[in-house]
Amino acid sequence: MAKPFASSADLGEKRQSLEILADGVYALTAEGDPNVGAVEGEDFLVCFEALATPVAARRWLARLREHTDKPIRYLVLSHYHAVRVLGASAFGAEVIVTHEKTRELIAERGAQDWASEYARMPRLFEEPASILGLTWPTATFSDRFTIDLGGGRGDLVLQYCGRGHTEGDLVAWLPEQRVLFAGDLVESQAALYTGDAFHRDWASTTLDRVAALGARTLVGGRGAVAEGEDAVAAAIGQTRDFLTVMLREVGASESVKEAFERTHRALAPRYGSWPIFEHCLPFNVSRLWDELHGVERPRIWTAERDRQVWDELQS
Ligand SMILES: [Zn+2]
Repeated sequence: MAKPFASSADLGEKRQSLEILADGVYALTAEGDPNVGAVEGEDFLVCFEALATPVAARRWLARLREHTDKPIRYLVLSHYHAVRVLGASAFGAEVIVTHEKTRELIAERGAQDWASEYARMPRLFEEPASILGLTWPTATFSDRFTIDLGGGRGDLVLQYCGRGHTEGDLVAWLPEQRVLFAGDLVESQAALYTGDAFHRDWASTTLDRVAALGARTLVGGRGAVAEGEDAVAAAIGQTRDFLTVMLREVGASESVKEAFERTHRALAPRYGSWPIFEHCLPFNVSRLWDELHGVERPRIWTAERDRQVWDELQS
Protein backbone atom coordinates (compact mmCIF):
# COMPACT_ATOMS: atom_id res chain seq x y z
CA MET A 1 0.00 0.00 0.00
CA ALA A 2 1.28 3.47 -0.86
CA LYS A 3 2.32 5.62 2.07
CA PRO A 4 0.41 8.89 2.38
CA PHE A 5 2.48 11.88 1.26
CA ALA A 6 4.84 13.31 3.92
CA SER A 7 2.76 14.22 7.03
CA SER A 8 -0.44 14.89 5.09
CA ALA A 9 -2.28 12.10 6.92
CA ASP A 10 -1.01 13.13 10.36
CA LEU A 11 -4.02 15.00 11.69
CA GLY A 12 -3.95 14.06 15.40
CA GLU A 13 -3.61 17.00 17.77
CA LYS A 14 -0.39 17.01 19.85
CA ARG A 15 -0.35 17.88 23.54
CA GLN A 16 1.64 21.02 24.27
CA SER A 17 3.63 21.39 27.51
CA LEU A 18 5.00 24.65 28.86
CA GLU A 19 8.15 24.13 30.91
CA ILE A 20 10.00 26.69 33.02
CA LEU A 21 13.69 25.86 32.53
CA ALA A 22 15.14 28.61 34.75
CA ASP A 23 13.86 31.88 36.19
CA GLY A 24 12.16 33.60 33.24
CA VAL A 25 13.14 30.93 30.69
CA TYR A 26 10.30 29.06 28.99
CA ALA A 27 9.92 26.27 26.46
CA LEU A 28 6.79 24.93 24.83
CA THR A 29 7.21 21.38 23.54
CA ALA A 30 4.59 19.42 21.64
CA GLU A 31 5.30 15.68 21.32
CA GLY A 32 7.47 16.09 18.23
CA ASP A 33 5.83 19.16 16.69
CA PRO A 34 8.10 22.25 16.44
CA ASN A 35 9.22 23.65 19.80
CA VAL A 36 9.24 27.33 20.74
CA GLY A 37 10.63 29.32 23.66
CA ALA A 38 10.87 32.65 25.43
CA VAL A 39 13.35 34.43 27.70
CA GLU A 40 12.52 37.31 30.02
CA GLY A 41 14.71 40.38 30.13
CA GLU A 42 14.40 42.96 32.90
CA ASP A 43 11.52 44.75 31.19
CA PHE A 44 11.08 42.95 27.88
CA LEU A 45 10.74 39.50 26.35
CA VAL A 46 12.69 37.62 23.72
CA CYS A 47 10.65 35.00 21.87
CA PHE A 48 12.34 32.13 20.04
CA GLU A 49 10.60 30.78 16.89
CA ALA A 50 7.21 31.84 15.57
CA LEU A 51 5.30 28.65 14.60
CA ALA A 52 3.55 28.22 11.24
CA THR A 53 0.72 30.74 11.50
CA PRO A 54 -0.28 33.76 13.61
CA VAL A 55 -3.24 31.79 14.99
CA ALA A 56 -0.94 29.00 16.22
CA ALA A 57 1.44 31.62 17.63
CA ARG A 58 -1.36 33.41 19.50
CA ARG A 59 -2.25 30.17 21.31
CA TRP A 60 1.36 29.89 22.48
CA LEU A 61 1.43 33.54 23.53
CA ALA A 62 -1.78 33.11 25.53
CA ARG A 63 -0.01 30.43 27.58
CA LEU A 64 3.11 32.55 27.96
CA ARG A 65 0.95 35.46 29.15
CA GLU A 66 -0.08 33.38 32.18
CA HIS A 67 3.54 33.89 33.35
CA THR A 68 4.62 37.34 32.15
CA ASP A 69 3.09 40.46 30.62
CA LYS A 70 6.37 42.04 29.49
CA PRO A 71 6.33 43.41 25.92
CA ILE A 72 8.06 41.40 23.21
CA ARG A 73 11.13 43.29 22.04
CA TYR A 74 12.86 40.55 20.06
CA LEU A 75 11.60 37.67 17.98
CA VAL A 76 14.51 35.34 17.17
CA LEU A 77 14.11 32.88 14.29
CA SER A 78 16.56 29.99 14.16
CA HIS A 79 16.25 29.48 10.38
CA TYR A 80 13.99 30.17 7.41
CA HIS A 81 11.64 27.15 7.39
CA ALA A 82 7.99 28.12 7.09
CA VAL A 83 6.74 26.23 10.15
CA ARG A 84 9.18 28.28 12.26
CA VAL A 85 8.64 31.76 10.85
CA LEU A 86 5.24 32.42 9.26
CA GLY A 87 3.46 33.14 12.57
CA ALA A 88 5.73 36.14 13.20
CA SER A 89 3.11 38.88 12.88
CA ALA A 90 1.36 37.66 16.05
CA PHE A 91 4.32 38.69 18.21
CA GLY A 92 4.35 42.40 17.40
CA ALA A 93 8.10 42.33 18.11
CA GLU A 94 10.17 45.49 17.79
CA VAL A 95 13.03 43.53 16.23
CA ILE A 96 13.05 40.26 14.28
CA VAL A 97 16.52 38.68 14.32
CA THR A 98 17.94 35.98 12.05
CA HIS A 99 21.31 34.99 10.68
CA GLU A 100 22.18 36.97 7.51
CA LYS A 101 22.00 33.80 5.38
CA THR A 102 18.43 33.25 6.55
CA ARG A 103 17.41 36.59 5.09
CA GLU A 104 18.98 35.59 1.75
CA LEU A 105 17.24 32.21 1.84
CA ILE A 106 13.85 33.82 2.51
CA ALA A 107 14.39 36.06 -0.51
CA GLU A 108 15.60 33.19 -2.68
CA ARG A 109 13.21 30.39 -1.70
CA GLY A 110 10.84 31.51 1.06
CA ALA A 111 7.74 31.42 -1.14
CA GLN A 112 8.49 27.94 -2.52
CA ASP A 113 9.29 26.66 0.97
CA TRP A 114 5.94 27.95 2.25
CA ALA A 115 4.04 26.02 -0.45
CA SER A 116 6.17 22.92 0.11
CA GLU A 117 5.80 22.84 3.89
CA TYR A 118 2.09 23.57 3.76
CA ALA A 119 1.52 20.50 1.58
CA ARG A 120 3.85 18.35 3.68
CA MET A 121 2.48 19.29 7.12
CA PRO A 122 -0.99 20.83 6.73
CA ARG A 123 -1.95 20.23 10.38
CA LEU A 124 0.68 22.72 11.58
CA PHE A 125 -0.84 25.49 9.44
CA GLU A 126 -3.70 26.41 11.73
CA GLU A 127 -5.91 28.93 9.86
CA PRO A 128 -3.40 29.51 7.05
CA ALA A 129 -5.30 32.61 5.87
CA SER A 130 -4.04 34.40 8.99
CA ILE A 131 -0.48 34.47 7.52
CA LEU A 132 0.27 37.99 6.32
CA GLY A 133 3.11 37.03 3.97
CA LEU A 134 6.77 36.08 4.15
CA THR A 135 8.57 37.02 7.37
CA TRP A 136 11.48 39.46 6.94
CA PRO A 137 14.12 39.96 9.62
CA THR A 138 14.84 43.55 10.69
CA ALA A 139 18.28 42.69 12.17
CA THR A 140 20.80 40.12 10.97
CA PHE A 141 24.33 39.09 11.93
CA SER A 142 27.11 36.84 10.65
CA ASP A 143 28.83 35.40 13.75
CA ARG A 144 27.13 36.43 16.99
CA PHE A 145 24.53 38.84 18.31
CA THR A 146 24.32 39.53 22.05
CA ILE A 147 21.20 40.71 23.85
CA ASP A 148 21.81 42.16 27.34
CA LEU A 149 18.82 40.97 29.34
CA GLY A 150 19.35 43.58 32.07
CA GLY A 151 18.57 43.38 35.77
CA GLY A 152 21.32 40.86 36.54
CA ARG A 153 19.83 38.32 34.14
CA GLY A 154 22.99 38.06 32.02
CA ASP A 155 23.15 37.86 28.24
CA LEU A 156 21.31 35.93 25.59
CA VAL A 157 23.85 35.09 22.90
CA LEU A 158 22.70 34.29 19.37
CA GLN A 159 25.46 32.26 17.79
CA TYR A 160 26.17 30.93 14.32
CA CYS A 161 27.86 27.51 14.53
CA GLY A 162 28.36 26.82 10.82
CA ARG A 163 26.26 25.24 8.09
CA GLY A 164 23.96 22.50 9.31
CA HIS A 165 20.22 21.94 9.08
CA THR A 166 20.25 24.91 6.68
CA GLU A 167 22.85 27.39 5.51
CA GLY A 168 21.90 29.90 8.20
CA ASP A 169 20.93 28.29 11.52
CA LEU A 170 21.47 30.16 14.76
CA VAL A 171 21.33 28.89 18.33
CA ALA A 172 20.23 30.97 21.33
CA TRP A 173 22.47 30.48 24.35
CA LEU A 174 22.12 31.58 27.95
CA PRO A 175 25.67 31.15 29.31
CA GLU A 176 24.76 31.85 32.94
CA GLN A 177 21.82 29.46 33.08
CA ARG A 178 23.54 27.11 30.59
CA VAL A 179 20.31 26.76 28.64
CA LEU A 180 20.54 26.29 24.87
CA PHE A 181 17.78 26.71 22.29
CA ALA A 182 19.32 24.73 19.44
CA GLY A 183 16.65 25.03 16.75
CA ASP A 184 16.71 22.16 14.28
CA LEU A 185 20.48 21.68 14.65
CA VAL A 186 19.70 19.18 17.42
CA GLU A 187 16.66 16.94 17.79
CA SER A 188 15.86 15.07 20.95
CA GLN A 189 14.12 11.81 20.15
CA ALA A 190 12.68 13.15 16.91
CA ALA A 191 13.89 12.36 13.40
CA LEU A 192 16.09 14.86 11.57
CA TYR A 193 14.96 16.79 8.53
CA THR A 194 18.01 17.25 6.29
CA GLY A 195 16.45 18.22 2.97
CA ASP A 196 18.15 21.64 3.06
CA ALA A 197 21.21 20.54 4.99
CA PHE A 198 24.98 20.43 4.68
CA HIS A 199 25.45 16.99 6.18
CA ARG A 200 29.26 16.88 6.33
CA ASP A 201 29.62 20.25 8.07
CA TRP A 202 26.69 19.54 10.38
CA ALA A 203 27.97 16.12 11.50
CA SER A 204 31.44 17.48 12.27
CA THR A 205 32.40 21.09 13.03
CA THR A 206 28.91 22.51 13.48
CA LEU A 207 27.84 19.96 16.11
CA ASP A 208 31.29 20.26 17.70
CA ARG A 209 30.63 23.97 18.23
CA VAL A 210 27.16 23.30 19.61
CA ALA A 211 28.56 20.73 22.04
CA ALA A 212 31.41 23.03 23.09
CA LEU A 213 28.95 25.55 24.51
CA GLY A 214 28.49 23.17 27.44
CA ALA A 215 24.71 23.31 27.82
CA ARG A 216 23.06 21.74 30.84
CA THR A 217 19.57 22.11 29.37
CA LEU A 218 18.87 21.86 25.64
CA VAL A 219 15.69 22.61 23.75
CA GLY A 220 15.91 20.99 20.32
CA GLY A 221 13.79 21.78 17.31
CA ARG A 222 11.39 18.98 18.11
CA GLY A 223 10.98 16.52 20.95
CA ALA A 224 11.36 16.71 24.71
CA VAL A 225 13.67 19.11 26.54
CA ALA A 226 17.02 17.45 27.34
CA GLU A 227 17.70 18.10 31.04
CA GLY A 228 21.17 17.52 32.43
CA GLU A 229 24.55 17.08 30.80
CA ASP A 230 24.01 13.41 29.99
CA ALA A 231 20.70 14.06 28.25
CA VAL A 232 22.21 16.98 26.32
CA ALA A 233 25.11 14.79 25.19
CA ALA A 234 22.64 12.08 24.18
CA ALA A 235 20.58 14.49 22.06
CA ILE A 236 23.67 15.83 20.29
CA GLY A 237 25.00 12.28 19.91
CA GLN A 238 21.74 11.07 18.42
CA THR A 239 21.76 13.91 15.92
CA ARG A 240 25.35 13.13 14.93
CA ASP A 241 24.67 9.41 14.68
CA PHE A 242 21.66 9.95 12.41
CA LEU A 243 23.82 12.07 10.08
CA THR A 244 26.79 9.71 10.21
CA VAL A 245 24.66 6.72 9.27
CA MET A 246 23.14 8.67 6.40
CA LEU A 247 26.57 9.72 5.13
CA ARG A 248 27.84 6.14 5.29
CA GLU A 249 24.85 4.53 3.58
CA VAL A 250 24.25 7.12 0.87
CA GLY A 251 28.00 7.26 0.23
CA ALA A 252 28.07 3.49 -0.38
CA SER A 253 25.14 3.48 -2.83
CA GLU A 254 25.09 3.33 -6.63
CA SER A 255 21.73 5.03 -7.11
CA VAL A 256 19.43 7.31 -5.17
CA LYS A 257 16.87 4.52 -4.88
CA GLU A 258 19.47 2.19 -3.39
CA ALA A 259 20.57 5.01 -1.11
CA PHE A 260 17.04 5.41 0.19
CA GLU A 261 16.60 1.70 0.83
CA ARG A 262 19.97 1.28 2.54
CA THR A 263 19.49 4.35 4.69
CA HIS A 264 15.98 3.31 5.68
CA ARG A 265 17.21 -0.15 6.65
CA ALA A 266 20.10 1.25 8.71
CA LEU A 267 18.15 3.97 10.53
CA ALA A 268 14.76 2.34 11.10
CA PRO A 269 15.69 0.07 14.03
CA ARG A 270 16.71 3.05 16.17
CA TYR A 271 14.74 5.94 14.69
CA GLY A 272 11.86 4.46 12.71
CA SER A 273 9.23 5.11 15.36
CA TRP A 274 10.26 8.71 16.03
CA PRO A 275 8.18 11.65 14.81
CA ILE A 276 8.39 12.49 11.08
CA PHE A 277 10.91 9.72 10.27
CA GLU A 278 9.05 8.38 7.22
CA HIS A 279 8.05 11.87 6.18
CA CYS A 280 11.62 13.19 6.12
CA LEU A 281 13.67 10.34 4.76
CA PRO A 282 13.04 10.67 1.00
CA PHE A 283 13.84 14.40 1.09
CA ASN A 284 16.88 13.79 3.28
CA VAL A 285 18.34 11.14 1.00
CA SER A 286 17.67 13.20 -2.11
CA ARG A 287 19.59 16.16 -0.68
CA LEU A 288 22.49 14.06 0.60
CA TRP A 289 22.78 12.30 -2.75
CA ASP A 290 23.13 15.74 -4.35
CA GLU A 291 25.63 16.89 -1.73
CA LEU A 292 27.84 13.86 -2.30
CA HIS A 293 27.65 14.39 -6.07
CA GLY A 294 28.87 17.96 -6.14
CA VAL A 295 25.67 19.99 -5.75
CA GLU A 296 26.96 22.61 -3.34
CA ARG A 297 23.74 24.30 -2.26
CA PRO A 298 20.44 22.49 -1.68
CA ARG A 299 18.06 22.61 -4.63
CA ILE A 300 14.85 24.48 -3.94
CA TRP A 301 11.96 22.30 -2.82
CA THR A 302 8.68 23.03 -4.53
CA ALA A 303 5.35 21.31 -4.04
CA GLU A 304 5.92 19.58 -7.41
CA ARG A 305 9.45 18.42 -6.69
CA ASP A 306 8.32 17.13 -3.29
CA ARG A 307 5.78 14.85 -4.97
CA GLN A 308 8.27 13.63 -7.55
CA VAL A 309 10.83 12.63 -4.95
CA TRP A 310 8.19 11.07 -2.75
CA ASP A 311 6.78 9.00 -5.61
CA GLU A 312 10.23 7.90 -6.68
CA LEU A 313 11.47 6.84 -3.26
CA GLN A 314 8.77 6.35 -0.70
CA SER A 315 5.63 5.16 -2.47
ZN1 LIG B 1 13.78 23.34 9.89
